[in-house]
Amino acid sequence: MNIKTLLAEEKRLGLNCNYCGRFRYLNHGRFAPSTPVEAIAKTLTCARCGSEDVETFAVTRTSEKGYWPAERS
Ligand SMILES: [Zn+2]
Repeated sequence: MNIKTLLAEEKRLGLNCNYCGRFRYLNHGRFAPSTPVEAIAKTLTCARCGSEDVETFAVTRTSEKGYWPAERS
């Protein structure tokens, strides 16, 4: 999945730190439409603990009219 597909499917870009568990949404406007969602993690580190062990992925709403999963620090 790339940014273009992410937007088409009305998903959001999530960043999770595997070290400290921080989860945040990223502004997809920073990335080109052709950028693979998983590749973005390679350019980032965790803003809280500085770990490079982060992953980026598409986040879906919890239900059709539901909420987005909450950010976590
Ligand atoms: Zn972290």
